[in-house]
Amino acid sequence: MSATATARAAAAPTARPCTARAPRAISSSSSSGFAPARQPRGRPARGALQVAAAAAAAAPEAPTLPFRVGHGWDLHRLEPGYPLIVGGIEIPHDRGCVAHSDGDVLLHTVVDAILGALCLPDIGQLFPDTDPRWKGARSDIFLKEAVRLMRERGYTIGNIDCTIIAQRPKMSPHKEAIRDNLCQMLGAHPSVVNIKAKTHEKVDSLGENRSIACHAVVMLLRQ
Ligand SMILES: [Zn+2]
Repeated sequence: MSATATARAAAAPTARPCTARAPRAISSSSSSGFAPARQPRGRPARGALQVAAAAAAAAPEAPTLPFRVGHGWDLHRLEPGYPLIVGGIEIPHDRGCVAHSDGDVLLHTVVDAILGALCLPDIGQLFPDTDPRWKGARSDIFLKEAVRLMRERGYTIGNIDCTIIAQRPKMSPHKEAIRDNLCQMLGAHPSVVNIKAKTHEKVDSLGENRSIACHAVVMLLRQ
């Protein structure tokens, strides 16, 4: 994100991005090691991961699954004066996503799908919007961390299917560039990464060019 775009994001007092979901019970568990000021850049809040790891360790039998399925969903408000970044590609439009980070609705969705498949805390817990490190951050940072966590647990991308929902602009001219970029970030072949796009029939905020949303389903395969 450019310095100008970052400044624009900083000037948005009512921004409520998807990374606003950090539950108090987890983010306040400082006794489990949550220490934002000492986190290396690009790494999430460790408290949420430690809570998840402790819960998994406490379970009597942890199955080793040959594959795992995860679902992701995200929505951002669209307003003039912000860049529209989807899948790491800046798309020309008269408005963009209001967010704490760069507001990349597709990457946020893919991150949550991967984290969901792994039964890990969601993107809002790992990268809370109360953490100044993520202000104006590029969302590929979040995806790189999700991929690292996936590989650390012995999984790789089986396939992923994404659906972008936006009335405008038309996504079809950008779908291949988005897929190429996503394949590179995931380390996946194009034959297992699908990008679809739909309008919202001109109804509700999505159909009135006031928001953009994305769904994704991912299957991870054990390596
Ligand atoms: Zn988001």
